[in-house]
Amino acid sequence: MPLRLEPGTRLVAATHNPGKAREISALLDGRFQVVPASELGLGAPDETENSFAGNALLKARHAARATGLPALADDSGLSVRALDGAPGIFSARWAGPDRDFALAMARVEQRLDEIHAADLSAWFTSCLCVAWPDDTALVVEGRVDGELVFPGRGERGFGYDPIFRPEGETLTFGEMEPERKDAMSHRARAFARLKEALFD
Ligand code: IMP
Repeated sequence: MPLRLEPGTRLVAATHNPGKAREISALLDGRFQVVPASELGLGAPDETENSFAGNALLKARHAARATGLPALADDSGLSVRALDGAPGIFSARWAGPDRDFALAMARVEQRLDEIHAADLSAWFTSCLCVAWPDDTALVVEGRVDGELVFPGRGERGFGYDPIFRPEGETLTFGEMEPERKDAMSHRARAFARLKEALFD
């Protein structure tokens, strides 16, 4: 099957994170009929791989096989240089079973305090995978670099947004208008690559 997605195709968004689902729909410019996995009664598979790309592939394939439709998954997270890239692929898990990101951000701050870190540089990564029901798949990656700020600022976005200020910006992702975040985020950069690969 060729690596193409015709406009208007039904595409399963293999995520159970409403913040990501919103960004995925916005970044696809209404090109497809995006169907959230939760609407199709799909569960989330365990993320057993040790890389963003591996987990994105696992989630997209799981949704494509279960539904018979092409599926798009994002695996993403925050990496902190002074913590050797943690929380990384464990970004969601640092928030615990209640998905408490105030707790996750406090954990990051505490780890940095413990090692008296002076370097607060960090980056977000997004790996996007489109998988087709025949197991064909395409994986792309986007990244945005920045610095952590404590205490966090802003109520917008989701996850670690309040403590991340992208390079060259004064506002954190948590303070930015969604459109501004969508213009520069790791996910936006990954989507630009995906569009190049699929449509250009
Ligand atoms: P997963 O890709 O669903 O395993 O989880 C990724 C986790 O990384 C999310 O739950 C967030 O905690 C974090 N994350 C990914 N992208 C963003 C973002 O754009 N802003 C803030 N946090 C993010």
